[in-house]
Formats: sequence, structure tokens, C-alpha cells
Amino acid sequence: MTKYFHFMIFNNINELKVVADFEANFCGQLCGEYPELTDMGIRIYTDKQGTGFIKQWDNSNNSPYTSNHAVTEIMRSEDIYNKCGFTEGEEFAILAHELGHIVSGKRGQKSENNFQEELNADQVAASLGLASYMASAIQKMIDLNINPANNGEMERRISALI
Ligand SMILES: [Zn+2]
Repeated sequence: MTKYFHFMIFNNINELKVVADFEANFCGQLCGEYPELTDMGIRIYTDKQGTGFIKQWDNSNNSPYTSNHAVTEIMRSEDIYNKCGFTEGEEFAILAHELGHIVSGKRGQKSENNFQEELNADQVAASLGLASYMASAIQKMIDLNINPANNGEMERRISALI
């Protein structure tokens, strides 16, 4: 029997349910807006189960998700992720945000201003109707002091979303 693999937006290495559900819900809208996502096959994996460039070289461990457009990867850091206790909607928003970074990188449109780059990525979540989820996900990261140096910037990102 032939098995067909459709790598659409993601190559869902660890078969994460939230990733499959995100794709089922938002692929149509996202791939309309960003056609290059359709066949991008972004390798998405957790730092406990999967392995790739980010895990080897960029495991900074101050964020639940890390993306790298050059190697087309997203990694979820399980310790921080589990601490945050995101709802499904919040995690959808974060996935959209990470896709925003990957698209801007692939298009050579990454802002040199890191804060502006974060605002732009947040707008991808907002474009899917996930602005309030993005804001509450950021609030959880502030409350848990995941990356204290970024708390001020994260407060300003929330203000831009709500
Ligand atoms: Zn970001």
C-alpha cells in the first residue's frame, strides 16, 4: 500500500496534535496570503523528541518556541512550554507568530529592528483572528518571567495587539 505524505506548511516530525490542528484550521488562509508556505515543509519538533539545527546550535532556552528561517525549522522547548500551560488558541497564535518570522526571513523582509520584527510576526497571528490569544500567551510569558530582559518589550507587544 502506498502511503502519501503531504508536507504542506509543516513537516510535523513528532506528530504534534496542535500542529496538525493548526494546519487543518489555518492552512487555507495562510497559504493564500503566503503561497510559499504551501510546500515549505517546515521541520517542527520538540527539544525532547526531535533533533535539528536549532536544537544543536540555538538552544537558548528562554522561549517556548524558536524558529530559524535559514534552516526552515521551528523547535518547541518542552520545559518552558509545559510551564506556560498555553491553551490551544494561544498555541495557534504562537505558531502563526513563528511562521511570520519564517516568511519574513525567506522573503528577505526581516526587520533589522528586533522589536518591529516581533510586531510584524504578531500581526500574522492577528490576521488569523488570534490577536487576543497572542496577547494572553505573551502575558503568560511575562508572568512566568521566562525572559526577564524582554518583559518591557512584551508589554508593548500586548499594547499593540489589544
Ligand atoms: Zn518572535
